[in-house]
Amino acid sequence: MNASPLLELRNVSVSFDGFRAINDLSLSLQPGEMRAIIGPNGAGKTTMMDIITGKTRPDTGIVRFEGRDLTRLDEPAIARLGIGRKFQKPTVFEALSVRDNLLLSLKGLRSPFSLLFAKKTEVETFRIRALLETTRLAARAEEQAGSLSHGQKQWLEIGMLLGQEPQLLLVDEPVAGMTDAETMATADLLRDINRTRSVVVVEHDMEFVRALNVSVTVLHEGSVLAEGPLDEVSADPRVIDVYLGR
Ligand code: ADP
Repeated sequence: MNASPLLELRNVSVSFDGFRAINDLSLSLQPGEMRAIIGPNGAGKTTMMDIITGKTRPDTGIVRFEGRDLTRLDEPAIARLGIGRKFQKPTVFEALSVRDNLLLSLKGLRSPFSLLFAKKTEVETFRIRALLETTRLAARAEEQAGSLSHGQKQWLEIGMLLGQEPQLLLVDEPVAGMTDAETMATADLLRDINRTRSVVVVEHDMEFVRALNVSVTVLHEGSVLAEGPLDEVSADPRVIDVYLGR
């Protein structure tokens, strides 16, 4: 028997102007699991992430995190419970160093200006060092974030999210616009993170999904079409039909 899930969506539906973007969606994630979510454009992937993080409220159904009902909580309350979300576009403070970006997030500060009055504690120095290692940015620590490559900015932002110690990290199309080498490094990075945290990653890039080597959920028309290892789901005739638009 499975342990109780970390995250569970049960019979969730949401409509926009009468159009059912999410249609009786049920999905569960075990503690410590990393899951890739794939599906054609319009399948409901972003809306699903919006529902988990409280940006969109489901019309019906239930979302539970560690057994707790999230459906009445707002975004900040859900984030405080330990769900962190990385959006597609990196939003780092370009004029600050990599190190100061990480410090800002560890302190929970929103404005670079507030760093002028902030002292760095020993614990923060230690944690920043660990985050720089995790995000492969140790050699760039003192450089301005604006000078990083697109891929490195994505890693920095992931590091900033990790500074908030989420138990579950939701990552939206992390490798869009990355070089092949950055894409593969990102798969390694997420696997490292998954040693201590659960991860849900939405991604179109199948080479990247293959490199993650995790169970895949295929969404289509707002529900789960198939679930399992990538090789299995990509051989499923229903999945092939959906991707080929037949
Ligand atoms: P995906 O991320 O898989 O491409 P989305 O979750 O963005 O899919 O969208 C699912 C469907 O819901 C799409 O048909 C989209 O047009 C529609 N949709 C999403 N958000 C809204 C919204 N705020 N208002 C109206 N329609 C929306």
